[in-house]
Amino acid sequence: MKEMICIVCPRGCHLTIDETTLEAKGNTCPRGEEYAKNEITSPMRTITGSVGISGGIHSRLAVRTNRAVPKSKMFEIMAALHACRVQAPVKRGDVIIENVCGTGANVIASRDM
Ligand code: SF4
Repeated sequence: MKEMICIVCPRGCHLTIDETTLEAKGNTCPRGEEYAKNEITSPMRTITGSVGISGGIHSRLAVRTNRAVPKSKMFEIMAALHACRVQAPVKRGDVIIENVCGTGANVIASRDM
């Protein structure tokens, strides 16, 4: 059995899931069961970070993926962000890295700069 806290909504239900049968307990709604199953089989996360920027008011630009990506790709994506540098001006929502690490997700700017 694996224990986890559901992060789908602020209620934060304490879940337990059988890693063999994928039977979840402790969830108040069906979304919690789906979350627990995904955490066991293919955990996904929205990645946030920053990239270097030239000509802006700060030296780093806050960015995030535009949708959840496999958690297993997190370190590869962070390396891609570390290697990336952009030129101001940038608008919030601009695509900074398209199809980052082959995930199908784009890295987008979280703010104007
Ligand atoms: S199980 Fe449902 S109610 Fe509980 S935290 Fe998850 S989404 Fe919210």
